[in-house]
Amino acid sequence: MLYSFLDGKGTIGFIPSITEPFCQYCDRIRITSQSMFITCLFANAGYDLKILLRSKKSEAEIKRYILECIKKKPEGVVV
Ligand code: SF4
Repeated sequence: MLYSFLDGKGTIGFIPSITEPFCQYCDRIRITSQSMFITCLFANAGYDLKILLRSKKSEAEIKRYILECIKKKPEGVVV
């Protein structure tokens, strides 16, 4: 939803992920400051990248792990 200010000097938008979900098209991922890799903004849990990056895993193994996490991305979380 996009709204224009009455003076025409700007717009403000809202992402209605609850009332108008677009989860099937979502490609958003997040990495928190605690190194948690989260595949949905409403997810209660994520994947700890710090442990993975500090392990002796190769770059290819890390890449494969991250891709597997993304494949498990939910189509949205009911709140
Ligand atoms: S998948 Fe998660 S982050 Fe993406 S639109 Fe749905 S609720 Fe939001």
